[in-house]
Amino acid sequence: MTEEKRVADGRQETEEKSAGGGRTVEEKRVADIEKKRRREKETVGSMIEIYCHGVHKTKRGTLCDACKKLRDYADLRTEKCPFMETKTFCSACKVHCYSKEMQNEIRQVMRYAGPRMLFVHPVLALGHMKVTLENKRKARRGTEGLS
Ligand code: SF4
Ligand SMILES: [Zn+2]
Repeated sequence: MTEEKRVADGRQETEEKSAGGGRTVEEKRVADIEKKRRREKETVGSMIEIYCHGVHKTKRGTLCDACKKLRDYADLRTEKCPFMETKTFCSACKVHCYSKEMQNEIRQVMRYAGPRMLFVHPVLALGHMKVTLENKRKARRGTEGLS
């Protein structure tokens, strides 16, 4: 590596670190994506719980076998989702990585639990709304990919 390149690299890293309070811009980006992924799993899991309790009459906070299967499936999809950085709702996704059967099931869950989320988990519901609005704003500025 030449001396000039070393100096330039050092300057770039300093600029990045100053933007992220000790973390590089890339580290912050990856951490934000993982945080969003965790929150999405938590939100979908909570919605499945609301649905299972209301429709399948299970004890609050527990899941029947079918809902457990759906939650595990949704977790795996979220884990592998390539659009985590920019996505809003899976229903707005052009890829639809869910199988037809699971897509139908999760739609039922969303329809039932969506309006109830604000009362049961207001923080998660508001967090989800915030992400949606932020992404819509970005999309309007023309910096968005899918959803
Ligand atoms: S449906 Fe689209 S946004 Fe949702 S997990 Fe699959 S690829 Fe990601
Ligand atoms: Zn259930």
